[in-house]
Amino acid sequence: MTSNKKSCRVRFAPSPTGFLHLGGLRTALFNVLLARKYHGQAILRIEDTDRERTVAGAEEQLQAVLEWAGLSFDESPWIGGDYGPYRQSDRLDIYQEYGQQLLDNNLAYRCFCTPEDLEQMRAHQIARKEDPRYDGRCRQLSSNQIQTYMDQGRSYVIRHKLPEQQTVTVDDVIRGKITFNTDTLDDQVLIKSDGFPTYHLAHVVDDHLMQISHVLRGEEWISSAPKHILLFEALGWEPPSYAHLPLILDTNRHKLSKRSGDMSAFVEEFREQGVLPQALINYIALLGWHPEGDQEIFNFDDLVELFDLDRVGKAGAVFDVTKLFHLNSVYIRNLPDGQYISHSRKYLSNTEISMEAIPEDKVNSMLLMLRDKITRFSDIPDMLIPYLHDDVEFEAEAAEMLAVPGTGELLMKISIVLIDTAEFDGDVFKGVVNSVGKQLSRKGRDLWMPVRAALTGRIHGPELHRIVDVLGKNTCVKRLQAAAAETNR
Ligand code: GLU
Repeated sequence: MTSNKKSCRVRFAPSPTGFLHLGGLRTALFNVLLARKYHGQAILRIEDTDRERTVAGAEEQLQAVLEWAGLSFDESPWIGGDYGPYRQSDRLDIYQEYGQQLLDNNLAYRCFCTPEDLEQMRAHQIARKEDPRYDGRCRQLSSNQIQTYMDQGRSYVIRHKLPEQQTVTVDDVIRGKITFNTDTLDDQVLIKSDGFPTYHLAHVVDDHLMQISHVLRGEEWISSAPKHILLFEALGWEPPSYAHLPLILDTNRHKLSKRSGDMSAFVEEFREQGVLPQALINYIALLGWHPEGDQEIFNFDDLVELFDLDRVGKAGAVFDVTKLFHLNSVYIRNLPDGQYISHSRKYLSNTEISMEAIPEDKVNSMLLMLRDKITRFSDIPDMLIPYLHDDVEFEAEAAEMLAVPGTGELLMKISIVLIDTAEFDGDVFKGVVNSVGKQLSRKGRDLWMPVRAALTGRIHGPELHRIVDVLGKNTCVKRLQAAAAETNR
């Protein structure tokens, strides 16, 4: 990364409109990584000037989810800092001042067009097969006309008066130079009729006043970037460096929206499902950033060391939830036992499952037994069911296994030998199953699957010796016999 400003000051500038999208988390992460790498500052600014979209409570929620993700900022509405306030609704007079400055310098103008006027303009342009945009008709209003309209109390917006037929180049750190002609750009609204600034004016003013050196944000902002650069110029300021991060796509290569299939694309959803923040951050870092080599597991410090914008690509990055869950299972396996257990227990308290009657160490061994099988903590309650109820419910595939002729005899024989074994553990159990299997000429899947189905009602699950240890001899005998009674013998 090169910078013409001395320090690296970056900002994450979310609008508090609800849950945090994965794309938002990636923007936040890349900003924080860059700030940490270059010993700069990461600023969090709340962009809440769109009153209709602002949702009560969203700011607190955002704060909580960023904290959960382990992303910390140096300046924010909550921490404060030398460049505050950091909430745009607390800076309205600042935007007014610059709106007025642009008017005074004839670089902006009042536009009295009503929503109906704009709709009509749009319809005509579409009918003429032109790209719809504001046609600049209020540029021509005389000062008398403007005064009359204002005296009549007509509402107006303030628009940026773009220079005509001028090329403007966005020099994007990731994409290189992109050139636009102002004739294809709209005279952007800077101040709305309610006196609030638009995003365009507010963030340009703030990026300047907060001395932002690099703007990292989603690709969807590229088409607005030339207008932002022109606004910087109009205000007599030097624009920051821009890096527009690649789109995040779903597995069908469509832009990842709020939902993708049956998954929502909000960070809160993954937190709820029991994706560990370290795993999510690791996965999100790889959406668009391509480290050298084929290492896949990166902790935060690794990321700070290795991350840089020159390894961020332009091509859309596919978000594959299966990969995320796989990565999460790696992180889950690496957790210290105590942390794994306390985390898992949180997922039991929210369910119908009551563990009160079960001794604590038994609950713990059940949870540990499931550890290799889960991809997120919310898998646990369902996976525990076979070990909690004496009456085993057989899933369809398990019932099919049991229906194979001869299975009743197999299960019954195993149970009878087991009754007489003095010692009992997973190895003893295996030995018994193998020897009965030999007698009945059954082996492999034909031998072990019915046993698993009988013990748990399912054909997938933890390793059999662990299941047997958790259930104990009596329960195993009972379940084998109960299942034998269900079979065709
Ligand atoms: N408030 C904008 C958003 O939430 C930020 C865009 C930017 O980073 O410039 O998308």
